[in-house]
Amino acid sequence: MLSKKQSQELVLPANISNMKLKIYLTLFLLFLVAVKNVCARELTPSERVARQSILYATGTNYIEKAYYAGGKILRWNKSEFPIKVYVENTVNAPNYYVYAFARSVLIWKTAMKDVLSIKFVNLESEANIVFKVVNNKKYIRQVENNEDSILAYTSPTIKKGKLEKMYIYVYDKGRDNKYYRPYQVLNIAIHEFGHALGISGHSNDASSIMYPLLNAGDEKKSAFISRTDINTLTLLYKVTPDITNGDKSKETGNISAEILLGDEEEREVIAIKQALEEIRIKPTDCLSRLKLAVLYEERKEYQKMLQYIKEAEPLAKTKDEQYSTYVAYAYYYYSQRDKKNAKLYLDKALLIKDDESLKTLERFINLLR
Ligand SMILES: [Zn+2]
Repeated sequence: MLSKKQSQELVLPANISNMKLKIYLTLFLLFLVAVKNVCARELTPSERVARQSILYATGTNYIEKAYYAGGKILRWNKSEFPIKVYVENTVNAPNYYVYAFARSVLIWKTAMKDVLSIKFVNLESEANIVFKVVNNKKYIRQVENNEDSILAYTSPTIKKGKLEKMYIYVYDKGRDNKYYRPYQVLNIAIHEFGHALGISGHSNDASSIMYPLLNAGDEKKSAFISRTDINTLTLLYKVTPDITNGDKSKETGNISAEILLGDEEEREVIAIKQALEEIRIKPTDCLSRLKLAVLYEERKEYQKMLQYIKEAEPLAKTKDEQYSTYVAYAYYYYSQRDKKNAKLYLDKALLIKDDESLKTLERFINLLR
């Protein structure tokens, strides 16, 4: 546990420069792994009391914003601990990038030492979480009049419903085409590593490291891991995960997500509210619109699904965002039994990334008449 004094030691060097920094999380559409819980039910009064007391004992947290798509719990399996981290040695950026990545891991390791176990590995193939530096020109599509700058993103690899890896991609340079300064890289790395540990969403609390805007002008708002961030992760690792990398039954003493977070209907309603709030905070965000599209697909509200995919499309700034948009279109047209358009968008997605999960969709589309 961290005392107030100890957590102060985590305060990062100084303020952030003049630009408005936005850090996004890539959403990997969950259509295929979404397993509908058929028998959603009301919680009993004693389950509601259990939920309240767990939330109370945890202290302030933003667990409802930490969900993965559709209110799902995605995190590393405790039976597979330690969480293994690989930092790619890069020639694309100054040395301090790699040092900052490693330091961000150590900062989280210290903050979460009662809950998580984390170690470095020397091989990418053995790692759960991988840090990479990527070229900003190659990966970011410039969008006209877009004032946001994406600095980094974290994307999970999910195969057959199992979490395989989390890739943290940090762009080599900012929009000004200059390398980030050391403290900026560190702030970015700590935020992204929070995603990689399982906090899929963002906090509304500006003092949280998982707040999406690292705001420039305010020197007092240096980015550091807050009590609320620690509470949220602590709680996340007490809840039975929906998507994880190991055997769920090997983890004992977990709380069921249903008791803690509500049944599927409740979680969907919360998730829709969160996504709408994200759009309000970040009007040019592509992924929160795709999240809504996924939610409306689950609810079989296809007109709304299409509306949000159409809104997301021109806002896609990264290849992953474009890929996710095409996959969403393919699913939409599949749901409408429109084989021609479903295939068209599937092919567009395959051109960006030949992902194994698309094979199942391809098979289903081919079965359409
Ligand atoms: Zn983020």
